[in-house]
Amino acid sequence: ILRVKDVSKTYQSGNRKLTVLDQVNFDIQSGESIAIVGPSGSGKTTLLGLCAGLDSSSTGSVVLNGNAFEQLTEDQRAAVRSRDVGFIFQNFQLLPTLTALENVMVPLELKKRKDAKEKALELLEKVGLKDRVTHYPTQLSGGEQQRVSIARAFANEPKILFADEPTGNLDTETGEMIEDLIFNMNKEKGTTLILVTHDPELAKRTDRIINIKGGKIQEDVHG
Ligand code: ATP
Repeated sequence: ILRVKDVSKTYQSGNRKLTVLDQVNFDIQSGESIAIVGPSGSGKTTLLGLCAGLDSSSTGSVVLNGNAFEQLTEDQRAAVRSRDVGFIFQNFQLLPTLTALENVMVPLELKKRKDAKEKALELLEKVGLKDRVTHYPTQLSGGEQQRVSIARAFANEPKILFADEPTGNLDTETGEMIEDLIFNMNKEKGTTLILVTHDPELAKRTDRIINIKGGKIQEDVHG
C-alpha cells in the first residue's frame, strides 16, 4: 500500500542545508502495523509527513495506494489524503470554528453520509467525549482535543492511518483506551497503521518496528 523509494529530505535554513532524511527505502503491505522509532530529531515526523502526502520529498518517490505523490499537484494530493488517509497528529489540526461534533462530522459529510451526525456522536462516545460534543477546540483540554482528532480520523474510515505520538498527550488509562481503538481498527478493519512513538510498549504491539537514526534506517524488524 506504501512504497518509499530512495527518499531524501533536505531543509534549507539560511545558507545551510540540513539533510533530515537520507536515502530511505521501505515497502508497507496493506494491513500491516508499523512503529517508527528513533531518537528525538532523527526525522520520524518528517518521514510520516512525506508518507502521508502532507509534504514532498527532496528526491525519491513515495507511492501511496498507487498514487505517486511527487507527480501530483497539491490539490491532487489533498484528494488522495481525504479519500484514503487518516491522521492523528500532535498539533491536532482541529478546525477552531467548529464544535467537537462538527469537526468529527467533516469527513463524514465529505463522503455524503446521511448518518453523519449519529456516526460522529458514536465515535465521540467511543473516545470518551460524549459530554463534550458541543465544546469548541479552545474549550477542550489538550488530551480531549487529541481524542477529537482521533474520532475524526476514525470517521474517515481510512485505508491507512498515520499517528504521531497518538497517546503522548494522554493519561495512562485514556492512552490505553485509544491504543486499543487504534489496534482494533487495524485488526478488525484491516486499516494499515503507521505510528511514530517513543513508547517501547506501544511499539511492541505493532507487527514491525522501523528504527531511524540521523535520517537513515538503522533497523527494520518484523515482530
Ligand atoms: P521528535 O522525536 O523530537 O519529535 P523527530 O524524529 O520526529 O523528532 P523531525 O520532527 O522529523 O524529528 O525533525 C528532524 C529534524 O528536522 C530536526 O532536526 C528538526 O529541527 C528539523 N526540521 C523539521 N522540520 C523542519 C523545517 N520545516 N525546517 C527546518 N528544519 C526542520
